[in-house]
Amino acid sequence: MFPTMENRPSEPSAIPDALPGLYIHIPFCLRKCVYCGFYSVTDRSQIPNYLAALRREMELYREWAASFDTLYIGGGTPSVLPATELEKLIADIRGVFPIASDAEITVETNPADIDAGLLNAICRGGANRLNIGVQSFDDGILAFLGRRHDRRQAVAAFTASRTAGMENIGIDLIYGVPGQPMSAWFASLREAIALDPDHLSCYQLTLEDGTLLDEQFRRGEVVFPDDALQADFFSATSEFLENHGYTHYEVSNFSRPGRESRHNLKYWDHIPYLGLGPAAHSFRGRERRWNRRAVGVYINDLTSGRAPVEAVETLSDEQLSLEDLFLGFRTRRGVCLETFRLRYGRDLLMEKRDKLKKLSREGLVEIRDGFLRPTRTGMAVADSLALI
Ligand code: SF4
Repeated sequence: MFPTMENRPSEPSAIPDALPGLYIHIPFCLRKCVYCGFYSVTDRSQIPNYLAALRREMELYREWAASFDTLYIGGGTPSVLPATELEKLIADIRGVFPIASDAEITVETNPADIDAGLLNAICRGGANRLNIGVQSFDDGILAFLGRRHDRRQAVAAFTASRTAGMENIGIDLIYGVPGQPMSAWFASLREAIALDPDHLSCYQLTLEDGTLLDEQFRRGEVVFPDDALQADFFSATSEFLENHGYTHYEVSNFSRPGRESRHNLKYWDHIPYLGLGPAAHSFRGRERRWNRRAVGVYINDLTSGRAPVEAVETLSDEQLSLEDLFLGFRTRRGVCLETFRLRYGRDLLMEKRDKLKKLSREGLVEIRDGFLRPTRTGMAVADSLALI
């Protein structure tokens, strides 16, 4: 039956019955990395007031969902919190929200913060997944990026995490750093896989407005790899990691079988998520809302009994369908043609036949098992594929 306005689901949800995810933002860092455009502050004197405000916000959303099956504590740098505070925070989150017993609970960490005390606290709190912001195993590149750890600390942090019993560990890496030859990138990749992480996020370094790196670029002090070299980094990384048993399941993400980030998959699959903390985003049904960005404003709002919401938008079918394409083309799984047809009443194969034929001839997309999928080359230009 072709969907009509009457029989079409009114609240799009990529995977029916999928449980929502919970994101908690910790907006503190010890210092700002030169490339970072994320919202974070280095004044840690605000941590106690911040955590009190965060607990108030948690109470506001206590009834938001019947159950969450992922919890992601990100930042910023959650590991700058004192270990006892982090343990208590995870326990409090689990006390307020119904977190499923088999939930994926991730904490983002900086290698410089990882020691037995922190690891034991995280494990006692119930976290079962660690994401370590290594970025590189090259001390020169780490110094250039303004990271506060070195290669030795990164290796020690990973090893200590395994020793502490953390079975699911992801490593973040950055490529395309000015002056970084392909050989140096592959040296880092080899060091990474020698540790046998369960998950790897490999991000291309991008210029963000207002960062120190942006200033250096504008002054002509740094030169980025050109598009052709960036494309080479992307495809060589994908090929290398797939040859070593990692599935390239999203533009920047690779995992061992079954070790995909369950939490991040929710963002790409349009599954509901609740985000708490400054600048955190939430999504459910057609509604996306996001919080005010400044820590001080966030604290003031909650201290005064106000929700720190910056804006709420209701997405139209057109916006949602464009997002579905945009997000779907970022994943290896691609866009489910039948789900898209049921949700939006649009048959992509009919509607975009000529464009899809062209993209297929160019080796950018393929249609297989009812999915419109990007090829490896297509994933490199995923954002432009959405504009079919
Ligand atoms: S540690 Fe992460 S969030 Fe903090 S400044 Fe560096 S890149 Fe940004």
